Amino acid sequence: MGCRACEIACAVEHSVSKSIYGAVLEKPRPKPRIRVLPVDLFYVPMRCQHCKDAPCLRVCPTKAISRSDEGYVILNPLKCIGCLMCTLACPFGHPRYDPETNVVIKCDFCIDRLREGKLPACVEACPTGALRFGRLEEFLTEVAEEKARELLSGAAVPGVVVTKPVELPRPPEEARGVPLIKKMYSPASWGGKS
Ligand code: SF4
Ligand code: SF4
Repeated sequence: MGCRACEIACAVEHSVSKSIYGAVLEKPRPKPRIRVLPVDLFYVPMRCQHCKDAPCLRVCPTKAISRSDEGYVILNPLKCIGCLMCTLACPFGHPRYDPETNVVIKCDFCIDRLREGKLPACVEACPTGALRFGRLEEFLTEVAEEKARELLSGAAVPGVVVTKPVELPRPPEEARGVPLIKKMYSPASWGGKS
């Protein structure tokens, strides 16, 4: 719904004080690693995809970007020289240059929180459940179970099926009754002249 609670939670999580009241006074200003963008009639939260074969990680000349033991693509700001190679390599436009610190920032999946058994800050803050954290297989099973329950209860919403018409060869004019139509709409004749 575009409330941006995830952006605020992310900025606070990456602040020194980790408090919303302290974060607003900090210099440099804590910045979110997630962005909520308006797309047509919707709002889409955008953040790093933690790619399997991450282009940002491959191009970083100082190895500031690495993969954590859990598989997340993380950034060590102490090693970053602000060359912006990762920002050019990322197909999703994620690492973001911070002119206040001259390094890039990116989502780290709140790795410290995860190691404490907590959810990422953005997920915890999302009031509608639009952001979830877990394994894809679990979500797919959840969706399949929900659909099965809907079908059994008769509450299933009919889906929309998009079909493409088959293109058949055009029959000859006679078969389509074209001569008859031409005759019906032929110009009226007055006094034997058309
Ligand atoms: S910053 Fe971009 S390229 Fe790197 S892991 Fe995230 S989405 Fe992939
Ligand atoms: S900006 Fe920093 S993280 Fe990105 S490629 Fe350069 S050194 Fe690596």
